[in-house]
Formats: sequence, C-alpha cells, structure tokens
Amino acid sequence: MSDPLPTLAACRKLLDERHISARELTQQALDRIAAVDDSIGAYLTVVEEHALAAAAAADERLAAGERGPLLGIPMALKDVLITQGIRTTAGSKMLSSYIPPFEGTVAERLQAAGAVLLGKLNCDEFAMGSSNENSAFKPVHNPWDLQRVPGGSSGGSAAAVAAAEAVFTLGSDTGGSIRQPASFCGVVGLKPTYGRVSRFGLIAFASSLDQVGPFTRTCEDAAYVLEVIAGHDSRDSTSARQPVPTYRAALANHDLHGLRIGIPQEFFVPGLQPEVGKAIEGAIGQLEQLGAKLYDVSLPHAPYALPAYYIIAPAEASANLARFDGVKYGYRATEGDALWDVYAATRGEGFGPEVKRRIMLGTYALSAGYYDAYYLQAQKVRTLIRQDFDRAFREVDLLVAPTSPTTAFRLGEKVDDPLAMYFSDVCTIPLNLAGLPGLVVPCALAHGLPVGIQLMGASWSEGELLRVGHAFEQATQGIGLPSLTVP
Ligand code: GLN
Repeated sequence: MSDPLPTLAACRKLLDERHISARELTQQALDRIAAVDDSIGAYLTVVEEHALAAAAAADERLAAGERGPLLGIPMALKDVLITQGIRTTAGSKMLSSYIPPFEGTVAERLQAAGAVLLGKLNCDEFAMGSSNENSAFKPVHNPWDLQRVPGGSSGGSAAAVAAAEAVFTLGSDTGGSIRQPASFCGVVGLKPTYGRVSRFGLIAFASSLDQVGPFTRTCEDAAYVLEVIAGHDSRDSTSARQPVPTYRAALANHDLHGLRIGIPQEFFVPGLQPEVGKAIEGAIGQLEQLGAKLYDVSLPHAPYALPAYYIIAPAEASANLARFDGVKYGYRATEGDALWDVYAATRGEGFGPEVKRRIMLGTYALSAGYYDAYYLQAQKVRTLIRQDFDRAFREVDLLVAPTSPTTAFRLGEKVDDPLAMYFSDVCTIPLNLAGLPGLVVPCALAHGLPVGIQLMGASWSEGELLRVGHAFEQATQGIGLPSLTVP
C-alpha cells in the first residue's frame, strides 16, 4: 500500500525546503487513493490530469521563490462545492452528470493559493444525512472500521483525511455535517461562524444554516486552510466583512490559565454512550490540567434545537431544491408531455427518499395554515437558543461538550429509522441555529473508535478555538491515524 500523506504542516516544510516537489506529493496522493479508495469510497471523482498539471504549476511558483500556506498541497472538496469544468453531483442522481460552467469561491481561492485539487468527495445527497448512506452513488466506509459509517453528511471529506488520501478537505455543516463525521473518523473539523466563509458555489441545503469548513489532521493545519478560505465575497451577500486574522499566529500561546470553560449540562443527553461520556470527561479534565477553569452552564432551550432544526432546515431545503425541475440543468426524465408531468417525473426519479422526505416536511411546514404553527414557532425557538448562547458567553470564554452521542455506528444500523439518525446531530445543531463556530478535536479512542470533543465559541472566535484545540493536541499527542489494512 502506498504511503499515507503527511500533515499539512509537514508537507509545507517538505515543499518549502524543496525536499519534495508538489508533483511528487500529488503523485503520492493519487497512488494512495488508488491503493485504498476502493475500500473507503471517499471519492466520487478523481481528476488525475488536472491535479498533476496544477502541481506542476505550483512547482514553478515554488521554484520562483513564492511561499504560501497551501501552495502545492493536495486536497479535495465535498461534492456540494462547485468546481468549474469538473463534475459536481451533490451526491445526487439529479446532478450525476452536471459539469458546472462557473467556479465556486472556495475552489477559486484554494486554487489561486496553489492548492492542488485531487477530486470530489462523496456525501449524503444534498448534504442531508448523518451517515453518508444517502449518497446516490455508494457508501463511505470508516477507515477505523470498514463495517462502520464515517458519519455524514461530509463522510467522504472526513474519511479521506483519516485515510490520508488528501492532506486536507472541505465539507459543509448545516446541522453538524463537518463536526459529527470529524468525531466519527478521528480528525479535526471546523465549522466557522455563519458568514465567515463564502457560500457562493455551495449547492444550497438550508441557507440560513449552511457553512463551509475544513477537515484536517491537526488544529494547526485547520488554521492554514481557514486563513485562505475565509473572508468577504461580493458574490455572497451573507459573507461578513469581518477581517481575517492570521489564525496560525494565534496558536503559539499554549497557556490556558485564565481560560473560562463552560460545560453545558443539556449536551450530556440521555442516550449518550457511557464510553463517549467518559472520553469527554477525560478531555475536560486535561483542559483543566492545562490551566482552564471549569464552570457549569445551562443552555435551557438547547433540547428544542433538534425539533426546531427539522422544521427550519427542511423548509429552506424545500425552497432551495425547487430549482431541480429537469429544465434548467441536471437530470431530466424522458416521459411526460405536459410540463407538469416532466417536473413530477424528474423529481420523482432524480431525488432519493431522504431528500423527498425533507421536501415534503418543509413544504408542509411552510403551507398556509401551518406556517404559524410550525415555521414561525421554530424561528422563535431559534432566537431563544441564540440568546442562551449569548448569555453563556458573557460568563465563559468557550463551551465544551460531546460532538455526537455515540461513536461511529454500523453501516445499515440506522437507515430504517430516520429519528434515530437525526438524533446523531443533537449536540451539533444548536450551534448552527445560533450561527456560531465549533471545532471538533479527536480526544480518545473508545473500543477502538474515535471520539471528538466539541469546542464552541462566540462569533469570530475561530482563532481562540484553534488555539485551545492546538494546546490540547500538544498536551495529549492526539490519537494518530487508523492502521488501515485493505485487501
Ligand atoms: N445530519 C443533519 C441533516 O441530515 C445535518 C446535515 C448537514 O449538516 N448538512 O440534516
């Protein structure tokens, strides 16, 4: 089996000191994908020629003395992120042959910075799911145990980093789709503040919740990536004008003395696996040893986040997915003479069961007579949840909690029980409703499966989250990579 790729920081050093060329590193990534991805299923598309050409261009820039955080680094993107000229499917039959004629902002920024795109990553259809089993193409297997799910919806993005088939990847997080798979696959996942990263070219699921963010092996690596992708974009009116700090600079200070960490009781839900609870308590103890002070805090409305999310997200999805009608782009059913019949047949054949369930739920919640009873109520709950966080962050600097109630479950275990599947995001959804940043850092193995601790902060606190995560990693040495044995 080919060698696993090094971390981003290690690649950076190798490239800058010219110990390896971007082309060699990219070839190593492609060899790694060829060796392991039949067993993992992280990639939907690999663009070998494109990657080697981009690597050659990066080598020229490096030879000319240029330096930059991502110059020559091989990476891959969740397939909900638009890439010009490269098939972008959103994990759906509806877009199975869609080749975007334009470039999304994050793809553009990464490639301008010299990052090398290897391919597009498997995910749940339109980012709806918690196990990647809603992909229209194939499941993803967790590199720690191939019988288990990688989490979702960014399962391919998390698994590709854990299997060292990309140095970093991007995913999207609407209700936990970066953080939960990061926890299941034992990698770092960062969901930035709403507005921090442009969504121009992100295929929309629920626009008031969606954020793009990185998967990496370390917090330091996440700082490198965030620096490049964050910042205002005139093509996304929800992107913020907030200046982008040099996140890497913040990492130097490992001292957590004086840091006030809140522990929200509501996140230790009934249904939390005891071994996950133990791992999180252990990590909290380590943060205390590093000098942090612990406080019990309460977010009393957090238990209502999950039901409110399953009104708001489907409502927005039902509107966002109305564009897939067989006329503008994507899949088109052949039968039907009347326009209405073409719409119905296209949507009936093009969307999978979970996407249809969300569209029906959302349409119902927005319909006359039910709007006030469901959608408006859910929006009020959302405000209360945001106020809970605001109150908490007047007393503490950040919050720590479990990421998901369980470790990675078995493929097939929850596919027939949508409510059990939805419960997987009970600890991640509150932050999306509040628009705040969250960082997941691997903290332990429970029966051989990774557990990630979730750090939550106030708006624009990504630098502080990464600093604390980095200090934690330095003190604990991390959990390493899975020892992948593939046939
Ligand atoms: N699992 C959640 C859902 O199915 C969250 C998805 C996401 O964050 N994209 O909606």
